[in-house]
Amino acid sequence: MSDESLQCSFCGKQKADTNLLIAGLDAHICEICIEQAHGIISEESNLEKTGISSDMILKKPKEIKKFLDSHVIGQDQTKKVISVAVYNHYKRLLQVNDKDDIEIQKSNIIMVGETGTGKTLIAKTIAKMLNVPIAIVDATVMTEAGYVGEDVESMLTRLLQAADYDKEKAEYGIVFVDEIDKIARKSDNPSITRDVSGEGVQQALLKLLEGSVVNVPPKGGRKHPDQKFVEVNTEKILFIAGGAFDGIERHITKRLNMASIGYKSSNDEIKIDDGNLIQYLIPRDLKNFGLIPEIIGRLPVVTYMNPLDEESLRAILTDPKNAIIKQYKKLFEMDGIELNFDNSALDLIVKKAVEYNLGARGLRSLCEEILTDAMFSLPGSNQTSLLIDKSYAQNALNRTMFKKLKAVS
Ligand code: ADP
Repeated sequence: MSDESLQCSFCGKQKADTNLLIAGLDAHICEICIEQAHGIISEESNLEKTGISSDMILKKPKEIKKFLDSHVIGQDQTKKVISVAVYNHYKRLLQVNDKDDIEIQKSNIIMVGETGTGKTLIAKTIAKMLNVPIAIVDATVMTEAGYVGEDVESMLTRLLQAADYDKEKAEYGIVFVDEIDKIARKSDNPSITRDVSGEGVQQALLKLLEGSVVNVPPKGGRKHPDQKFVEVNTEKILFIAGGAFDGIERHITKRLNMASIGYKSSNDEIKIDDGNLIQYLIPRDLKNFGLIPEIIGRLPVVTYMNPLDEESLRAILTDPKNAIIKQYKKLFEMDGIELNFDNSALDLIVKKAVEYNLGARGLRSLCEEILTDAMFSLPGSNQTSLLIDKSYAQNALNRTMFKKLKAVS
């Protein structure tokens, strides 16, 4: 082989385009591929040093976003912010005793947005992508220790269970705390009405968010008084909080109005999009809503979810990897039946979901209502295909409880 026709066996670059091409037995490697390979090796050995399970898959922010895109429709800004936060969180875990002693803070996340906009879905998708265990817990059932209800530590019991009681795995997992807004202080002014239960739970939660070693009853509850506690360190657990924060727009408007008064003297034009105030959310609004500042400090990544418009709802039906329609198609396919929806039927489902104000959660119930009769009678019959068009869907819906639902809404 002439010297000029040599190329890097890894990336295919010609010798002339490289600064250095090292020859092996019957292969060559250029300096760029050497560096990349070196990067991979040191990342791997860092993983080993930190004890992070090799099952965990860490991707770059762009790859994380891409993965989220295939599961979650819209919410672009939030997906971007979360991709960076997750990447930084796990980079922090990879950090091994650096010489410079710079400690990277945890990037716990809070997502604010109406119910059914994809908060839980995002948390679940991140866990799936990283291949780490996730516990989805509801803040409303949490109480201060000693009161009726669950202790905050029960979140970690759930995480241990999700990790099949592998403590190390659990310590790299994710806890999604839903309905965090429900433990907000009821009054803006702490000195007038101290809402002890809400604030008490926030204080208890704070301990976990900060990172501490917690005694966790592996079976949960207080029913097994003699069970041995498992010590779980929460320092590396990623906490994602979510909540609808009903009425937070009031606090945002108030703040925006104040700000615009301040700006009047300057020539700055502030155009406020009244239709979607949540996009202006800042941590101070969460404080005004009733979260204690310490909690907000421990949830430094603040993001919001946009309400889902018709276009997004339509896409949610058919586009994501596990889209609702794909799931029903699969279910029918298992009975040897080819299920199809025509566009007019899909449009009707979206229209109804908007009409009943059920958001994305409503899409599934609507499909269920439309398909129940067919799912009951077709298995075992000799029908091999079913096309759902607008009139089929409309008739099915007319037959169901949705008529009654409409009367109450
Ligand atoms: P939230 O936690 O915000 O209340 P979820 O994530 O539980 O909402 O959403 C409920 C269901 O609605 C999900 O299982 C999913 O099927 C669907 N969904 C909601 N938002 C989206 C979205 N942005 N993209 C895809 N599916 C969504």
